[in-house]
Amino acid sequence: MVLSTTVLAGDGVGPEVTDEAVRVLQKVAEVFGHELKLVRKDVGGAALRSAKDPLPTDTLQSCLNSGAVLLGAVGGPSFDEFPPHLRPETGLLRLRRELGVFANLRPAICFPALEECSPLKPEIIRGSDMLIVRELLAGIYFGEPRSTQGPAGDRVAIDTMRYREPEIERVARVAFELARNRRRIVTSVDKANVLDCSRLWREVTTRVSRDYPDVKLNHAYVDSMAMALVAKPADFDVVLTENMFGDILSDQAGGLVGSLGMLASASIGGPVGLYEPIHGSAPDIAGQGIANPLGTILSAAMMLRHSFKLKNEAHSIEAAVTEVLNAGHRTRDLAKGGKKALSTREMGSKVVEAIKKSAA
Ligand code: NAD
Repeated sequence: MVLSTTVLAGDGVGPEVTDEAVRVLQKVAEVFGHELKLVRKDVGGAALRSAKDPLPTDTLQSCLNSGAVLLGAVGGPSFDEFPPHLRPETGLLRLRRELGVFANLRPAICFPALEECSPLKPEIIRGSDMLIVRELLAGIYFGEPRSTQGPAGDRVAIDTMRYREPEIERVARVAFELARNRRRIVTSVDKANVLDCSRLWREVTTRVSRDYPDVKLNHAYVDSMAMALVAKPADFDVVLTENMFGDILSDQAGGLVGSLGMLASASIGGPVGLYEPIHGSAPDIAGQGIANPLGTILSAAMMLRHSFKLKNEAHSIEAAVTEVLNAGHRTRDLAKGGKKALSTREMGSKVVEAIKKSAA
């Protein structure tokens, strides 16, 4: 099979971590007999420097012509003062919209070998394995009107949370379908005691759930969910929520299972999927070769599973990551208790070796 992929390394640690994910994909392609066809393009700050546009037409066209897109991260302090339409993050939001990827999947799994990296007690975090399904193309991040108006000292800022029924229904269906291959529990998170958008969200998810009688639907308010995630994270299977609540809760869930550098994501729903680690460009460690590449490597596994439907290939990467962690290998963010820290490149090599070994 030809695996045609656009790689958008982006800014900061983006190029360092995507390089390792590409090496892993090359090994998987070699072992399983696929042809990996890569095109590299600029996005975010890198694209602002090269083309004065955080999402140049050429980059977007390449993404739309690919089977999938693998992205590192965008942004950095040198762009903080740029006007909104010239911010690296604006390029990423536009890319998600242009690709039509309305469902963002963020697994938060506590690897047994990394229990000690969680800020929670091992007996609380143990066994946590949840999938957060976040609506990605609507809600308060996209709603109009939005503005800041008025005289200095008395300005008014407005953002609008807005949802249409079909926007809720389509992401709910993704969550229920995914739950069928897991523990068959969907927890839908809203703020239906206060917000109209949430009342509609609850009504639509309840209606959709009738088409999935084999999946149990629970509802939770976002404030009590924030508490439950810390108190009993292992209770959750699929967590379905709107854009902003999902943004916040998925970072919280990520923090609970160890390092941000471990967390992968997939954005699906349109013709081309987008795969990226959930962390940002990590300017504080960029260029030092110490970033954890596993979140990006696990995103590449999600890409093989969701865009190319290559289950065994995806599993080979996930199994290799588990094996490398079980063997005690750690990047600096994970190295506790005086353990030796591997560089980004060394960690990538360990995963490549584990894939090679299991194929042999
Ligand atoms: P960040 O995720 O970049 O970093 C937060 C902390 O986590 C830092 O201490 C960093 O060193 C650490 N970290 C992140 N990734 C790591 C990795 N792979 N290995 C080890 N440690 C890692 O978040 P931030 O500092 O809030 O944002 C920095 C920039 O990234 C900002 O410009 C922000 O807008 C952007 N950002 C981009 C994305 C994206 O591209 N999807 C997401 C979040 C933030």
